Amino acid sequence: MEHEVARYPESAGEIMVETVDELQRNGWFEDALELCGRVIADFPGMDSAFARMHRIETLWKLGRDGDAEEALAELWELDEEALLAAELVAELLDSHGDPLRALQWSDRAFAGLLRPDVDPEEIENLGDLVHAQWRAALRRRMGFAPDALDRAAQRRDPAMELGALRPTEDPGRQGLAALGVVDSAPSAAYREETDEVLLSHIVRADVADAHAAGLLTGFGDTEALTPDTYFREVELNRRQMRRETEFSRGRDIPLSMAEIRAFADEQGVTTPTENIRSAAAAAKHSRGGDFPMWPPERNQPCWCASDRKYKKCCGRP
Ligand SMILES: [Zn+2]
Repeated sequence: MEHEVARYPESAGEIMVETVDELQRNGWFEDALELCGRVIADFPGMDSAFARMHRIETLWKLGRDGDAEEALAELWELDEEALLAAELVAELLDSHGDPLRALQWSDRAFAGLLRPDVDPEEIENLGDLVHAQWRAALRRRMGFAPDALDRAAQRRDPAMELGALRPTEDPGRQGLAALGVVDSAPSAAYREETDEVLLSHIVRADVADAHAAGLLTGFGDTEALTPDTYFREVELNRRQMRRETEFSRGRDIPLSMAEIRAFADEQGVTTPTENIRSAAAAAKHSRGGDFPMWPPERNQPCWCASDRKYKKCCGRP
């Protein structure tokens, strides 16, 4: 390697990363780690990003899980390198049995396309189509219904099967077995099995907090979100979803920010995201409880906890 590096000094970082890969494949993990350290120190940008990914993988192989977690957290904090390595780290996390965090990293790779102000129908340039399809497959496996990005990936490649969702299939080690469909179009399989879909909402007292934490994407980027605006929007979204997908009712899981943060903690995630929020709702549902149905009867209390009847609150036309 040193010879190659001397011959092609402008590609030194790249050659060293290739060597790391070789060392790993041959089981020389300590040497791989040492070389990762050199690349990270001397070749910022793409090479360092890849070396950081390899370092995490190598640490896992050595059984040094704590160090791997630290390296992962460190990479997450680096704007440029986290973005450059995001797809690879996502795939690495999934192969390590951690689909939920894999999805977080994948979402980071597509952060620009997942912003609330991006119109799903307008997504034409997907960036890396292969990774977009990988993400769609991961989300399908986790029981999530297709989101705008998944549908855009499918438009680019209609052979992709996005319809056949089964929430109980291969849930990974995170206890995601009960992952249904939350706040998005319900899957056909989930509907067939249960005749109801999972819905969730943020409790009234925590709407502003959730919005500030970036958990209510699709409800405007900058303005403060009042609970009344939020519940109205959710109600209208649900009605539209019901028209489009022919489900008749949903089990409505209320979530507080404390519950979402506690669930994120359990998953070893510092910043809750929409995915975490959806998974938290599914986890709460799977633990059992007496959750109300949406829509309620017209004369029942409104689901938004306004103390008004449904027909006079969110149920109004
Ligand atoms: Zn209401």
